[in-house]
Amino acid sequence: MILPPSTLGMLGGGQLARFFVIAAHEMGYKVVVLDPDKMSPAGLLADKHLCAAFDDVNALNEMVHTCAAVTTEFENVPASTFAVLNNRVSMHPSASAVAICQHRIMEKNFLRDHNFPHVPYAVISYEKDIPANDSGLYPGILKVARFGYDGKGQVRVATAYEVLTAFKTFDFQQCILESRLSLDYEISVVLARDLVGNIAAFPTIENAHCNGILDVSIAPARCSVEINEQAQKLARRVAEKLGYVGTLGVEFFVSEGILYVNEMSPRPHNSGHFTIDACVTNQFEQQVRALCGLPLGDTRQHSNAVMVNLLGDVWRGDSEPDWRVLFSQSGLKLHLYGKHETRPGRKMGHYTVVGNEAEEVLKSAMNARLAIGIVKPKSSEVNNSGVLLAQINAYEESSY
Ligand code: ADP
Ligand code: MG
Repeated sequence: MILPPSTLGMLGGGQLARFFVIAAHEMGYKVVVLDPDKMSPAGLLADKHLCAAFDDVNALNEMVHTCAAVTTEFENVPASTFAVLNNRVSMHPSASAVAICQHRIMEKNFLRDHNFPHVPYAVISYEKDIPANDSGLYPGILKVARFGYDGKGQVRVATAYEVLTAFKTFDFQQCILESRLSLDYEISVVLARDLVGNIAAFPTIENAHCNGILDVSIAPARCSVEINEQAQKLARRVAEKLGYVGTLGVEFFVSEGILYVNEMSPRPHNSGHFTIDACVTNQFEQQVRALCGLPLGDTRQHSNAVMVNLLGDVWRGDSEPDWRVLFSQSGLKLHLYGKHETRPGRKMGHYTVVGNEAEEVLKSAMNARLAIGIVKPKSSEVNNSGVLLAQINAYEESSY
């Protein structure tokens, strides 16, 4: 076991790393953050911020010498980074688990090879791989294999010709074409797996995305007992098959009553932020615990929770939103990430409303959205996220 006051290493300095630093500090650990941005949210709180590229050998050597163990907050860790760290410092999750989650083709092949229910797909490496119009994959979504997140690097396509056009705009990078499901709703399971294979999962979460970015999460998810059990079981099996150690997010689609694994995040997940305010142990403390070889914490949820992401759009120009309207709600917990640059679509913070009554919690969270000026998206821009999104829209409609 790695015990306090040992030093832990974190690759990446975004909000997920920031919450890791906070959890580690509360538990008595020190943290070194590696991130090239001198104003990174986690770097600002860390005991030491190595302001360098992720493959900077000097910085990585310093991590090896000062850290008892190293983890990551994002999937796009370069292979060369792992090459420097491997066998020199304890690193979780492993390079191989991260490699699968960071590459959509490897990820989908992993799901296929282990018989996980997944969306039908085709790998597109060359023009000739583009499936014909009658392949059953249309309407579809074309996704670049690497470096896509929050809906970036994705285009909706209806025909082979549209795939070709999109493939060109992606500079012929390897892609996958997925058939586009009509979603009843989306859910996710966040869990942690320790060094000896114990797993502790949080309750299943219901998610609505807008423009490919997570918008609202409700925990526990309002899904059937069967779907819930299946999702929990599948998420555990994903973690086992990956030989995963750490906190893992598994995203699911439910379409026409059928559950599909969408993708995995080899790190805490945005939809798991409710655990900070509504669970005995949060997903970041679990990440620390798994990394350090401590027993996993109790994942019990003690309050109903609804989380709402605060994107840069809420900042009109340079003016700061009126935070008083959020602080005035006693059951609302505001989390701002300390990002210095505001951009539309950028995750700047989130809030979680907690309480005993699920309906009341959802209503308060929706009211707070209106109060802080979250704008209802035009329906054409919205991803088909099913019932929850429809409910959010209906709620906002009725309030105008
Ligand atoms: P990211 O890495 O950006 O999270 P995802 O593959 O999870 O990429 O896609 C983001 C969102 O886009 C999903 O949560 C879902 O709302 C929508 N989406 C993605 N793929 C599909 C699909 N095959 N069918 C329907 N909706 C999809
Ligand atoms: Mg996703």
